[in-house]
Amino acid sequence: MEQFKINTIRILFLAAFAFIMFRGTPILWLAIFALSMVAAVFFGRFYCGWICPMNTMMIGTEKLALKFGIKLKSAPKWIESGWLAWVLLIVSAGLMIFMKKVSGKDFPVLLIWLVASVILTFRYKPEVFHNKICLFGVLQGLTGRHAFSSRRVDPIKCIGCKLCEKACPAEAIKVFKEDHKARIDTKLCHQCYNCTLVCPKEAIDYGKVKK
Ligand code: SF4
Ligand code: SF4
Repeated sequence: MEQFKINTIRILFLAAFAFIMFRGTPILWLAIFALSMVAAVFFGRFYCGWICPMNTMMIGTEKLALKFGIKLKSAPKWIESGWLAWVLLIVSAGLMIFMKKVSGKDFPVLLIWLVASVILTFRYKPEVFHNKICLFGVLQGLTGRHAFSSRRVDPIKCIGCKLCEKACPAEAIKVFKEDHKARIDTKLCHQCYNCTLVCPKEAIDYGKVKK
C-alpha cells in the first residue's frame, strides 16, 4: 500500500512536469528544483526519490529492462570517482547560458536529461546514473549531505541481512563488515522508502539524524 501511495505521488509529479513542459515554462520546474535543494537541508533529498521525473521514468525503465532479461551493468571504472556529473553540470549550464544569449531560446536541459536517463537505464544499474552521471543529483547531494532529518537505521534492531542494500536504488545504505549493521549515507539517500519496506525487523524509520 505504501508503495502504491508513493508511486501515485511520483506519477502526479511526472504529470505536473509534463504540463509545465507543455506550457513551455521549464523555469518553473527549475524553481521547484531550487526550492527542493533548500528543503534537502531539513528533510533530505525528497526531490530525487519522489518528485524527479527522471527517477520516475527510470523506475519503470528498470522494470522493463529486467523483464527483457537485460543484465544491467555497474559503473565503469573511469567514472567511479563521480567527476563526470560535475563536468556534465558545467557543460549543461554553459549551453543554457550560451543558447539564451545567442538565440534567446531555452536549452532543453530537462528534456534532454530525461531521455538520457531512460536510455542509460537500459544499460546501467540505477545507482550509476543517480550517483555518477546525474547533474541534478550532485546538486542535491550538496545540501542533502547536511540533512537534519533522514531515513535512519536502529542498530539494535538491525540484523545485517542486507535486504535494504539490495532494494536501494542509490547505494545509500550499506551493511558494514565491522559490526554487521546497516548505515545510511544522507548525501546519497533519496528518502525513497524502499529500504523501510523490505526490512524484516522494522529497523529503518525517518527522523532526526545524529551528527
Ligand atoms: S534490511 Fe533491516 S535488518 Fe536487514 S540489514 Fe537492512 S536495516 Fe538491517
Ligand atoms: S537508503 Fe533507503 S530511503 Fe535512502 S535511497 Fe536507499 S532505499 Fe531509498
